[in-house]
Amino acid sequence: MSEVFNFCAGPAMLPTPVMAKAQQEFINWQDTGSSVMELSHRSGIYITMAEKAEADLRALMSIPDNYKVLFCHGGGRGQFSAVPLNLLPQGKSADYIVSGSWSKAAVAEANNFGEINVININQDTDKSSSLLDSSEWPLDPEAAYVHYCPNETVNGLEISNIPDTNGVPLVADMSSNILSHEIDVSKFGLIYAGAQKNIGPSGLTIVIVREDLLGQAQIATPCIMNYKTAADNDSMYNTPPTYAWYLAGLVFQWLTELGGVKAIAKVNKAKAELLYQAIDGSDLYMNHIETEFRSKMNIPFWLKDESLNDKFLSESEAVGLTALKGHRIVGGMRASIYNAMPLEGVQALVDFMEQFEKRNR
Ligand SMILES: *Cc1c(COP(=O)(O)O)cnc(C)c1O
Repeated sequence: MSEVFNFCAGPAMLPTPVMAKAQQEFINWQDTGSSVMELSHRSGIYITMAEKAEADLRALMSIPDNYKVLFCHGGGRGQFSAVPLNLLPQGKSADYIVSGSWSKAAVAEANNFGEINVININQDTDKSSSLLDSSEWPLDPEAAYVHYCPNETVNGLEISNIPDTNGVPLVADMSSNILSHEIDVSKFGLIYAGAQKNIGPSGLTIVIVREDLLGQAQIATPCIMNYKTAADNDSMYNTPPTYAWYLAGLVFQWLTELGGVKAIAKVNKAKAELLYQAIDGSDLYMNHIETEFRSKMNIPFWLKDESLNDKFLSESEAVGLTALKGHRIVGGMRASIYNAMPLEGVQALVDFMEQFEKRNR
């Protein structure tokens, strides 16, 4: 089988060196004679690994000491419930910024747990897609928190400036852009991310939460969703997703050796520029999102002649460029180019797109 570049939005490709290391250690991890996934999460050797993974993530993101890092179950959607359960006390409301399909889904779930104030910031016209600048969001100064999704995986919209919420805790769903560029964690009350896009395999969710926000969960909060319970038990109140945690640790090591988030951000910028230039410079492809709000992780594009869609997909697949089909609600194509996607993968895609356009003029 020749080399494949997998553009899947999630679960997404993992760095090749990480997969090779996992394979090498699969049956016999650190001379235990067992696989990581066969060991107790309470064993010393596992705990040492788990603590190192957390320490590496803290270093990568410069997470301040007054934040807890939790390794949870339940994916991004699990946090759609956990956030209001933990942070929305009775009698308060929360502001939810809607910029695309994931932030909308977060609202639908949060509505089950309290009063949600929806702020739609999409500013679409016939020709272009953009978002209301965060300085103009009509925020409630009394809100318990403000929730937003800085990278809309389906729509390809990104909010790159961190909104100023005037002291109201800011909660971000970073499932598809965590670790993709440097951020100041101290500007957030809580950050969460399902692992399967930029961190590791599915089944693990990272939560980074400021300590003063713990301990106000609604009474009905299941204990496995309670941040305080998780924090008090080092994310081992119940059995954590042990293998996913281990693989995430390998990804953190890989990223550290590459030079950290600053270094990968440069590569991510170069990859996105290459692909957007190819789209904008062609007569066949288009992306109508305003430059400022274009995602660097998920790049949707549409063929002006939609009758070529199936051909584009089957021919790209045949040369090892896989999973380019756009999300069903937006159609067209989508290239997800997370940290693990090398520049060569994007170059291969751009070359294919140019040739395909020439062949179909
Ligand atoms: C993928 C994704 C989710 C959902 O993640 P699950 O782990 O499938 O629940 C939520 N938010 C964003 C931004 C995503 O990209």
